[in-house]
Amino acid sequence: MNLLDQIQIILVETSHSGNIGSAARAMKTMGLTNLRLVSPKQAIDEQAEALSAGAKDVLDNAQIFETFEQAIADCQLVIGTSARLRHLQSSLIEPRKCGELAIQRAEQGKVAIVFGRERVGLTNEELLKCHYHLNVPTNPEYGSLNLAMAVQLASYEVRMAWLAIQENLQKNSKNEPLVEYPTHEALEHFFNHTERLYKELGFIRNEAVMLKLRRLYQRAELESTELNLLRGMLTAVEKYKVQ
Ligand code: SAH
Repeated sequence: MNLLDQIQIILVETSHSGNIGSAARAMKTMGLTNLRLVSPKQAIDEQAEALSAGAKDVLDNAQIFETFEQAIADCQLVIGTSARLRHLQSSLIEPRKCGELAIQRAEQGKVAIVFGRERVGLTNEELLKCHYHLNVPTNPEYGSLNLAMAVQLASYEVRMAWLAIQENLQKNSKNEPLVEYPTHEALEHFFNHTERLYKELGFIRNEAVMLKLRRLYQRAELESTELNLLRGMLTAVEKYKVQ
């Protein structure tokens, strides 16, 4: 099962068909395909198709419902979105959390992310029927996003959460050997070797330099193979020195 197929993007009483087309495009770029429309004010027309670019299939498969209630009936999690929600503290989530939650819950059933009317958003009654409320933390003085852009942002976060899971699955299934990191002892060995050699060469003259080098190498979180490379370089300098 593709978890992205569980995500339902719901647009409530959209006024402009162009926005429906743009939303379809936004969805498809993020791998989402299920679009639901609640009593759209304009039918899916040429304008919608033009703005959907190559996402006509999403429009063709769009489901139309008479009421909001019907559109969310088979969904186990409903996330409402709004530009003015800051008072709904307990159920308020940010886009990143929304993506993670949607993908997490998509394992169990259908998840709806609901977008409101261009002019007035979702009604309080509709918002009350949502488990969570997504607010994109926009400029407080100018915070209302264009409908399709809000769809784009939410879809993007859903995709990011989905990609993170794919990556984990791939790692586990490939059984890739885990990266090996050197022990503290091996690193100390390397630091001592560096200090000895470069003191001898006259480059390290005081403690401070070695401290800086230590910090630099620690920060790099060297893998064992990388440490071997550095040790090889020290050895090469040593060999050159005795020639
Ligand atoms: N004046 C309306 C704006 C509606 S914009 C209002 O205050 O709600 C159309 C839709 O885009 C909204 O219903 C919502 O679904 C989405 N949207 C716009 N800005 C948003 C934001 N900052 N956070 C979350 N959703 C947003």
